[in-house]
Amino acid sequence: MAGLLFARAGVETLVLEKHADFLRDFRGDTVHPSTLELFDQLGLLDELLALPHDRVESISAQIAGQLVEIADFRRLKTVAPFIAMMPQWDLLNFISANAQRYPSFTLRTQAEAVGTITDDTDQVRGVKLADGSRIDADLVIAADGRGSVLRQSAQLPLERLGAPMDVFWLEIPKSGKGTAFGVFENNRILILIDRGTYWQCGFVFAKGEGERIKQRPFAEFQAMLIETAPVLAKGVETLSGWDSANLLSVSLDRLSTWHKPGLLAIGDAAHAMSPIGGVGINLAIQDAVAAANILAAPIANGDDPDPLLHKVQERRWKAVVKTQKLQKLVQDRMIEPMVSGRAAMRKPPLPLRLLNAIPSLRRFPAQIIGLGFARERIEAPDIHDLG
Ligand SMILES: Cc1cc2nc3c(=O)[nH]c(=O)nc-3n(C[C@H](O)[C@H](O)[C@H](O)COP(=O)(O)OP(=O)(O)OC[C@H]3O[C@@H](n4cnc5c(N)ncnc54)[C@H](O)[C@@H]3O)c2cc1C
Repeated sequence: MAGLLFARAGVETLVLEKHADFLRDFRGDTVHPSTLELFDQLGLLDELLALPHDRVESISAQIAGQLVEIADFRRLKTVAPFIAMMPQWDLLNFISANAQRYPSFTLRTQAEAVGTITDDTDQVRGVKLADGSRIDADLVIAADGRGSVLRQSAQLPLERLGAPMDVFWLEIPKSGKGTAFGVFENNRILILIDRGTYWQCGFVFAKGEGERIKQRPFAEFQAMLIETAPVLAKGVETLSGWDSANLLSVSLDRLSTWHKPGLLAIGDAAHAMSPIGGVGINLAIQDAVAAANILAAPIANGDDPDPLLHKVQERRWKAVVKTQKLQKLVQDRMIEPMVSGRAAMRKPPLPLRLLNAIPSLRRFPAQIIGLGFARERIEAPDIHDLG
């Protein structure tokens, strides 16, 4: 998204992607109303929503045997009041196809950055690639995710907030219509998202537990799934074995400084988000918009971006910190006690019981999840008229 917006403003932009394509499973498929608003501003919303997707209009959870309604996106005043669930590679291909309409945009795949190039004043001047070549740049945007080699190479200070869980992601075939919901039962947490022909499932365990479970027979894992959500039984029996379950370790961290001369970190590279709320992609996109709003026009005019880099962090900082605080609160108060087996949940917590009882309150979690804090509008200029 940063690549698209910088190129649209007339900045010579090169995006490096280490893989040959964007085809990767379980990278998060949630496109939230805040992101849909941005595509609307770009005049691309109808085209985006013409791609296959599922719409999540509300979120509910089964907690200690009780079904509670938690968030209702239909109550939001926004152009697309739902979460569009679409494979992340479709979203990235869509963004990249639109970026490639701008002559100053280039995407180079199978191009892995292995570190920054700095001069003797410690100013970043570009990146080194795995094939030994180098690319010079006036500004390097490190958007290389939570394992960012660029933030490491730039020695930006990292604060780890801790994440007590591992998540197995898997696709479980289903028939009939469902909705997005979570199951909190028997010290287990299972997130289920209706993807038409299958449930996209996140099965949550205490950190380190996932690896131990994988040492045991797959049939035991299947039995745990069915015990937690009997509705899955038929689909679970069709799973072939451990190759159908991807184990992902969750991290929650942030850089206390996102920039140094010549380099700016955004997205997970600046702040790895937990999957709670499915907000990570959307926050990364908000960072991209803020970066383009603040930097694209000055760079296009030939100005030095360095004195402006701190403004991107200042613009996004509160939204990131507030969101991570909420994610940590849910982790520490609900998830950790459950997955560690320290406390079984005997009834839904009071705030969730209130949300369930008073429908109008469900607008508030929908607002936080769907629109987030300090959402951006695209202000970076469009110097092209592509029609
Ligand atoms: C288990 C789990 C589930 C999640 N589920 C959701 C969800 O449902 N919804 C949601 O919004 N968020 C979710 N998240 C968070 C979400 O995945 C991230 O917040 C989001 O993808 C961040 O986007 P990004 O562009 O900053 O980084 P990434 O999506 O990680 O993208 C980084 C890109 O850079 C490339 N790259 C990496 N290193 C290099 C290199 N050295 N050189 C060149 N290219 C490189 C990668 O191949 C990748 O394409 C989840 C996270 C976890 C751990």
